[in-house]
Amino acid sequence: MNLSRRALLRGRVRPTAPLALDASRCLGRLGVVCTACADACGERALTVPPGQVPTLHPGRCTGCGDCVPACPGAALSLDSPQPEPPCPP
Ligand code: SF4
Ligand code: SF4
Repeated sequence: MNLSRRALLRGRVRPTAPLALDASRCLGRLGVVCTACADACGERALTVPPGQVPTLHPGRCTGCGDCVPACPGAALSLDSPQPEPPCPP
C-alpha cells in the first residue's frame, strides 16, 4: 500500500478507498479530456490519461470527497464522507 505522508499525519488513512467511479458517466469515456477530479485531489490519488477514464490509487485516497463535486459528469461517489478528525486539545 502506497500511503501519502500527509494522509498519515492526518490519521485519515483507510484500509480501502471508499471512492466509487461510474465509468459510464465519465467524460473521458467519450474521449473528452477532463482532469477535474485529479486536479481537485490533493493526495494525487487519481490520475487521468488524456481522453480516458481516471485510475484510482486506493492507497492514497483518504476519502475526503474533494473530487466528488468537481466532476461534471457526477461519475464519482463516496460510500460515506470522511470528516476531518477533531483537533487535539
Ligand atoms: S476522495 Fe479525496 S483523496 Fe480520494 S480521490 Fe477524491 S479527492 Fe482524492
Ligand atoms: S472529473 Fe469526472 S468526468 Fe472528468 S475525468 Fe474525472 S471522473 Fe471523468
